[in-house]
This record gives sequence, structure tokens and C-alpha cells, in this order.
Amino acid sequence: MGGFSSTLAQQARKSNLISVIGTTGVGKSKLSVSLALKLNGEIINGDSMQMYKGLDTMTNKHPLEERFGVEHHLLGHIDDLTAQYTVKQFETEAEAVVDKIERERRKLPILVGGTHYYIQSFLFTNKTVAPERELTSQEAEFLETAETKEIFEKLKELDPVVSQKFHPRDRRKLATALKVCFTTSRRASDIYKEQSAPTTVNQSLTRYRNLVFWLWCEPDTLDTRLDARVDTMLERGNLLGEVKQMSDLYRTLDPPPSMETGVWQVIGFKEFLPFVSSQAEDDKVNGLEDMKRVTRKYADKQVRWIRKRMLAPAAEAGDDATIVVLDATDLSKWKENVEDKAVEISRAFLNGESIPQSARAPAHLSHLLQLEDTTQPGKGKWEPEKWKHYECDLCVVDGEKFVCLGEEQWKTHLRQKRHVKRVKRIKEQEAFERWKAKKAAEAQTTEEYKQDP
Ligand SMILES: [Zn+2]
Repeated sequence: MGGFSSTLAQQARKSNLISVIGTTGVGKSKLSVSLALKLNGEIINGDSMQMYKGLDTMTNKHPLEERFGVEHHLLGHIDDLTAQYTVKQFETEAEAVVDKIERERRKLPILVGGTHYYIQSFLFTNKTVAPERELTSQEAEFLETAETKEIFEKLKELDPVVSQKFHPRDRRKLATALKVCFTTSRRASDIYKEQSAPTTVNQSLTRYRNLVFWLWCEPDTLDTRLDARVDTMLERGNLLGEVKQMSDLYRTLDPPPSMETGVWQVIGFKEFLPFVSSQAEDDKVNGLEDMKRVTRKYADKQVRWIRKRMLAPAAEAGDDATIVVLDATDLSKWKENVEDKAVEISRAFLNGESIPQSARAPAHLSHLLQLEDTTQPGKGKWEPEKWKHYECDLCVVDGEKFVCLGEEQWKTHLRQKRHVKRVKRIKEQEAFERWKAKKAAEAQTTEEYKQDP
């Protein structure tokens, strides 16, 4: 009884938070401003690149005239472009801002972003591994420039269990695990173990009672829209000016920071860097193409991140986190498909109602909310007994022994044609060598016989 009522009390204390997530270029800012105007809200930026001051074109800051006087927080509040902003900092600052919006201003906090890693770790408090510190420049350099083999060896040294989980050539996964080892005081394997532990409803802890709008746009349509946006940035925005500004600053930094960290990751900088120094038309064309390609890839990654990392914790949080998909594909139907629907659902949510499943996605998009199957072997499961590298002494790929991940793969490999062929060839070779040895021995005996009549 006591436990039950304290749970109720706890839930009663949770305040409401509305979030807007989705890929870049889908209209998150527009929707959040509409919601803020209709529901008396203020906006908290959850896009890591937009936290930096300036670079308004490259980071897609919502233009001032389209904010209609709605207060925006954590937007352009980092003056120093060389500063590293961390997810921990975001959590602390966002929490304080939510509190301020609610208690002091008696308004509704609306979080919009961008950086789904930030959003996820802010919404679900036990699902991310927040780094305890930044990478040192040495570590960052190692992760970027070391041979994959060296990264594997280092991981094997720091966390032997997890080093067997990934293929020794899978640089990205090895580097991610190694980064965890570097920046937390724990082993990556311990954290993976914890995250893969089965959870039941409400185990996914939330700070707030959450309503999350996931703005969706059909990929082909989105790609066209993203391409057009990049063109506009170049033609009408200050894209090149901002790249120039960044590159001037970058050149003064010693040692040069990794382009995988801080503001240097912003899409557009790396891509237009060659043009800014060469001013060659070719570099401009390539830069534009690269930036479009990277932007589309980023959008794709954002969708996968939402599906993989937001849906499951939301399901576990039960009534504390409701995700609602809105279809923003047809912009001519924005008002009915997106804006009006979002306002209506928000009002029900703020009244304390639970949003019925049928209202959580239009029928043609309900599949987006289905949890990905995690029962497949090797997919997010904690099975260290299955994590073992098997090296084949016979099969060599690019000068290295072929490696299988786990017994199952190994057994399959042993049956594979190219492996079986090699075994056969080697057996034949061995038989031939034996035959040759035998012949030589016979010849020797004959020789001895001749010499010893
Ligand atoms: Zn083999």
C-alpha cells in the first residue's frame, strides 16, 4: 500500500513536457512555435549545433521573424566556438530552464531538437552513457588516426569482454566502445550489460510526464526538400561566410581540434573547407554535392536513432512517455495533418488524458511505432559467452586471417565453399608432400643399398 501511494505521489509531482523530434528540415521549429503560441509555451533548443552563437545559416536557426515573439532558450548561448558542449551540460541547463519556464513564468516548456542523443538522455534518465569527461586530444587523435588493428588491441586491453563482441575490422563499433572506456570510469561491457537487462513498464525513468511529437516526412520528399534547403543556404544564406569565419578560427588553434568534436562537426564546414581556401569552381560544386549527401545521410541516421533509441524506453515508461507520429510529407496539408492535430493532442495530454493508440500515428504510418525485433541473435543482447573471435588459418583476406564472430558464424564458415576448397587443396598439398618425402626416402635407401653391397 505504502509503495503504491508513493508511486502515485511521485507521478503527481512530475510536470508536463512536450517535445518535438524528427529529422533535420522536417519543420520541427515551425511546429514548436505554433504550439508555443497556442498553448502559452516557451521553447528549449535541443540541437547541439544551434547552441553555438552565430553560424545561423549553417546550423538552421529558425529566423527571428518566424519565432513570433516566442521565447527561445539554450539557443546560441555558447559564445566560444571552441568550447565543447556535453550532454551532461545540456541535461543540467535544460532541467534548470524547464523549471524556470514552469515555476517562474507559469508556461509550458516545449523541447525541440535536433540532437536526439541529448533528447533521449534528457527524457529517459537511465538509458544513455553520459561521458564523465571529454576525450583528451591524444585520445581523440588515437581514435581518428590509429589503425583499426591498434584500436582493437587497445580495446582488448581495456575491456577484453567487449572486444570480442565486434569484428576486429569494425572500426566504428570498436571506436565507440573504446570511447566509452576512455570517457567513463566504467567498462563499456558493464554498461552494455546494464542496458540490455530486461526492463518492465516504468523502469525507464523519466524526469517528466512526456508527450513527444515525431514529425515524419516520406524519405524521397524529404531528400528533395533537404537538397533545396542546401541550395538556398548557399545562394541566399551566409553559408560560405560562416565557413570562412570558422576556418579562420580553426587555423589559429594548436593543436587543431578533431572535426568530430564540438562545433566542427556541423554539416557544411568540412565540405566547403577546400573551396574557401582554393576558390576553385570545382571545389564549390563538390562541396555542394557533399553537403547534400551528408545532410541526407544525417536525416536517415536520425530516423534510425529515433526508432532504435526512443521507442523502447518510451514503451517502458508507459504513461510517462507518449510518442505521436505526425505526417509532414504534404506541406499543403500542414495545418490539418500537423498543426491542428498536435494542438488537439497536446490539450488532451495537458488535461491528464492518456492518448489512445489509434491517435498516436496516422494508419499508414503506424508501423513506425512498432518496436524493432530485438530477439534476433546478436542484436543488443548480453551474451558474452557467444562473443568470441575465431580466426581461420587457411583463409586470408587482405593479408589478414579471416575472422568469424562467434561459434555460429564459424560453423557456417567451415561449410563455405571457398573454405572447403582451401582445406581440400591443402590436404592434397600435404599428400603430395608426403608422397615426395616417401620417394626421397626410397631413393635414399636405394642409394645406401648401392653404396653398401
Ligand atoms: Zn577458412
